Amino acid sequence: MSAIDGLKSDVLVVGGGPAGLAAAIALRLQGFSVTVADTRQPPIDAACGEGILPAGVDALGRLGVPLGAADGFPFRGIRFIEGAGSVEAPFSGASGIGVRRTRLHTLLTRRAMELEVRLLWGTRIAEPSSRSSFEWIVGADGQQSAVRRSAGLGAALSLSHRFGFRRHYRLAPWTNMVEVHWGARCQFYVTPVAPDEIGVALLTRDSHLRIDAALCEFPTLSRRLANAACTSSDRGSIISTRRLWHVTRDRTALVGDASGSLDAIAGEGLSLAFLQAHALADAIAAGDLRAYQARHRRLARRPLIMANLLLMLDRLSWLRPTIWRGLALEPSLLSRVLATYTPGGRLA
Ligand SMILES: Cc1cc2nc3c(=O)[nH]c(=O)nc-3n(C[C@H](O)[C@H](O)[C@H](O)COP(=O)(O)OP(=O)(O)OC[C@H]3O[C@@H](n4cnc5c(N)ncnc54)[C@H](O)[C@@H]3O)c2cc1C
Repeated sequence: MSAIDGLKSDVLVVGGGPAGLAAAIALRLQGFSVTVADTRQPPIDAACGEGILPAGVDALGRLGVPLGAADGFPFRGIRFIEGAGSVEAPFSGASGIGVRRTRLHTLLTRRAMELEVRLLWGTRIAEPSSRSSFEWIVGADGQQSAVRRSAGLGAALSLSHRFGFRRHYRLAPWTNMVEVHWGARCQFYVTPVAPDEIGVALLTRDSHLRIDAALCEFPTLSRRLANAACTSSDRGSIISTRRLWHVTRDRTALVGDASGSLDAIAGEGLSLAFLQAHALADAIAAGDLRAYQARHRRLARRPLIMANLLLMLDRLSWLRPTIWRGLALEPSLLSRVLATYTPGGRLA
């Protein structure tokens, strides 16, 4: 007997991470009754860089989850650093925000409860077989999605794998930019998440590399972190780039990482999930999941290009100095690319 046997609602969302909760909220706002089931207990933490781009902040605001300075640390753009050189691009107008995953999860859970979403924590859904009790099934169960498998939506267009680890330090941010430090075999993402805390995420192809060993290759960053206390234990995850041919079948739809994932170097997974949540709720309200399939593809297009370009730079280390020099000479180019991260930009 499964925990969902006998339960009824319009929608069952499998997975109560950021994507699942955002989808549940968006669907409730359209008037649907929604049940969310997640294996884990809140607040759910995850290996993540924890930067939410302006378009993601805007999408969350439209769900009734406004993020302010009390929730994290606003950042005004992205800075790429390699050796002694750096290029940066401020967002135009809006800010992004670094928010601890546990805080984000608490805020999303609180909003879902306010809207009377039924929340089943500690509940694994192996196969949403009781689908007769639910009009629609939403798979928001992450990269290894069981819903994707059981709906036969597993066929992927492109695949790459890297490894990500994150750690937090008690340290006042030295900048209001997210910094991406590039090295020979990895990147470090540094995101301010509070006035006295920063998050550091290591992204690498090397499955054996860990944060401490990698930091030795980044003397400036290492010096900054040297005397700061760690405020979290390390968490790691495989980072997949996976694009699916289809994200819907019959009355089942996928959202967030279950619906295809981007390398974390793009820093767009969360923002994309929040935008997909709105698109999915609109499509279900119209009774037509084909609209979601089309909008999902449009939303993913530019972030996928961006992630692939950055992954190419990861592989072609000899090319990077030239690229950084070019961008330093023409900073408006990077700003124009980042303009698509803001509300009203193409990502939105
Ligand atoms: C190192 C790293 C750094 C990153 N940095 C950033 C960043 O800076 N900015 C950004 O926007 N994105 C970033 N990302 C990507 C971002 O973390 C993901 O895109 C985001 O977590 C996706 O959310 P989700 O809800 O789809 O999946 P998840 O967060 O994986 O949530 C899935 C949920 O489903 C539940 N679940 C799984 N199976 C079942 C089941 N059978 N039954 C019930 N529940 C189930 C899980 O318990 C989990 O809570 C990063 C990722 C990594 C790995």
